[in-house]
Amino acid sequence: MSKCLLCNSNFRREINYEKLFLFIKPTKKYTCNDCLQKFAKKKGILCLGCSKETNAKGMCSDCIRWRKIYENKMLDNRSIYQYNDVFHDLMVRYKRYGDYVLCNVLAELVDTLPEADYYVPVPSAPNHLQKRGFDTIYSIYQNLVPLTKLLVKEDTEKAQGEKNREERLLTTQTFYAIKKKNISGKIMLLDDIYTTGRTLYHAQDALLKAYPNCKINSFTISR
Ligand SMILES: [Zn+2]
Ligand SMILES: [Zn+2]
Repeated sequence: MSKCLLCNSNFRREINYEKLFLFIKPTKKYTCNDCLQKFAKKKGILCLGCSKETNAKGMCSDCIRWRKIYENKMLDNRSIYQYNDVFHDLMVRYKRYGDYVLCNVLAELVDTLPEADYYVPVPSAPNHLQKRGFDTIYSIYQNLVPLTKLLVKEDTEKAQGEKNREERLLTTQTFYAIKKKNISGKIMLLDDIYTTGRTLYHAQDALLKAYPNCKINSFTISR
């Protein structure tokens, strides 16, 4: 028997050894089926740039704006889940209230990851790290794939999650890349939520400065 981290009920779930794209999921289960079913996977027509659910084939308005700036350096962002109330509540508990164990629930939601040579988590700012006591993105992905820390974030007054849309888009660059030897090929940026794309494009800018020949894409659990 396990205890569900979301609803506290005891549950038994069959262990699934299914081999996925790149890794075998951790066999311990943290979330009961009733809770898991409340997370909605994306379906229908998805934006070609960021996986947002859209009404027509092509790109969403965010991606059209990014394309004007980035042209052939656009991120191919994959994400799996809709940002619904259940996902929102989970993120509030995890990030705002710092409930560390919920990184296991988020990891459990990730059932596939696109292939890459390096998986680079988007880092927390040092002041947020100190306040929470853990790095939110690193913690989610730490047991799923080998992670390469290539980005550092400077202190920021407000977390992206506390900003409105306008403020997010006006955020200035706060990342810089650590120069490491022999980095080449495909880099996959990992984050939790794609909101406007601002954070991920800044992360890409910083990485391309240090590794101009790498191809950079991104993965987020929700969009
Ligand atoms: Zn549950
Ligand atoms: Zn898009």
